[in-house]
Amino acid sequence: MALFKDLPKKVKIVEVGPRDGLQNEKTILSLEDKVKYINLLIEAGLNSLEVCSFVRADKIPQMADSEKLYEKIEKKENVHLSCLVPNEKGMERALSLGVKEIALFTATSDTFNQKNINTNIKESLSRLEKVATMAQKENIRIRGYISTVFGCPYEGNTSTDTLMEVIQKLIDFGAYEVSLGDTIGVGNPKQVDKVLDKVLEKYSVDKLAMHFHDTRGLALANILTSLQKGIYIFDSSSGGLGGCPYATGASGNVATEDVFYLLHSLGIETGIDIEKLVKASTFILNKLNKTTPSRYLSTLIAGK
Ligand code: MG
Repeated sequence: MALFKDLPKKVKIVEVGPRDGLQNEKTILSLEDKVKYINLLIEAGLNSLEVCSFVRADKIPQMADSEKLYEKIEKKENVHLSCLVPNEKGMERALSLGVKEIALFTATSDTFNQKNINTNIKESLSRLEKVATMAQKENIRIRGYISTVFGCPYEGNTSTDTLMEVIQKLIDFGAYEVSLGDTIGVGNPKQVDKVLDKVLEKYSVDKLAMHFHDTRGLALANILTSLQKGIYIFDSSSGGLGGCPYATGASGNVATEDVFYLLHSLGIETGIDIEKLVKASTFILNKLNKTTPSRYLSTLIAGK
């Protein structure tokens, strides 16, 4: 069918469960459990993973042992482990560990940035520029993340012009890829089509990733729309870990299992071994004493 004729043959999944997912979970896990979870994800075939963040321990207690965690994860060739770095202090911690890849975050909303990282877009970019300069000196890979691309919990709609400026800044800072985040899960396929039309006028698909949240149930529809625009890099979280900090009880990150099921049904290669992924997700969900928001994972668990 023409609708599915030109979809990418292969997709890169960036697994964000260990960082973006776990940082929103209230139960603080042991170092051993986090390391085991990450190693299980790698065994499941995931080779790009966001594993930790060098933020203040009092702000995000789940990430307090990031140094030890990074040291303990099995390093493998062709497995990219990324660490979130918010500022120069965090970058010094990353450098002392010999981290190979960092994630830099900002948003398209001044209010969101102000509440989240206590600064506006402009100031956050100058902060990130300093971090990027430190990273580039050591040939550390930089991945850029932009929040609130499809809407902000405080400002409502956000500007595509601002988005274009922020993408350019992150690319100027050396980002090999920029991930566009629907932080509160308000985006819809029509909006994704419109935003990507504009972004793809200037940037090629290999520079872009999409980061959808399933808060209102449209993450997979948005991924399908992105695939139809040629996008082939997606962020997702195993077991749908994360929740939504802006809507209590709602889903956050789209589940890697649900993305796998969609892609698999379209004949798109992911490199994921679903049995092993289920093992990783059920391991960590049991430790958190949580059920999964993933529809596909729920049916697999129920069928066992
Ligand atoms: Mg997220």
